[in-house]
Amino acid sequence: MKNQIRSCTDCQARFADLLLDSTSLPAPVQDSLRAHMSTCTACDSTMKDLQATFAAMDDWTVPEPSPFFDTRLHARLREEQARQPEGFLERVRSFLLFSTGRQLRPAVAGALALVLVASGGSFVGIHGLHPEAAPTHTSATFEDLRVLDNNAQALQQMDQLLDDSGDDGDATPTT
Ligand SMILES: [Zn+2]
Repeated sequence: MKNQIRSCTDCQARFADLLLDSTSLPAPVQDSLRAHMSTCTACDSTMKDLQATFAAMDDWTVPEPSPFFDTRLHARLREEQARQPEGFLERVRSFLLFSTGRQLRPAVAGALALVLVASGGSFVGIHGLHPEAAPTHTSATFEDLRVLDNNAQALQQMDQLLDDSGDDGDATPTT
């Protein structure tokens, strides 16, 4: 009989129907499925796992992207489309923007040590670490976003360097 569930393969082939729309299955098939699962622990536990997964997915709410995500994405896409062949400054900028900062650490640490010695610990003007890229025709929005990017990166690298000098103990001058 078509309605009879004879094997685990038969049973599990109906799981999707059972989970998504059990009314699509004829009553004899549903009865046969339940009868099989009451005697088969493998199918029963598989079904329970699937039900738990579906319940979790029902509760899950997709996180909203940041309100600036679309603006930033479109600005970057326009920038990439309008881009001219890469020059030296452009490559330097890409390196500064997309490198992990690990390669830059020794150089930045050295520069920061000089700044610390010269300024007695005042960090005024540290945002100047990032050289501006060659001026191209970019929108005002993109310029703003890039400034935000650069500031965020400078702050991040400052944090890393401060963490490192905290480990060394005496790298931070005391006044
Ligand atoms: Zn089974």
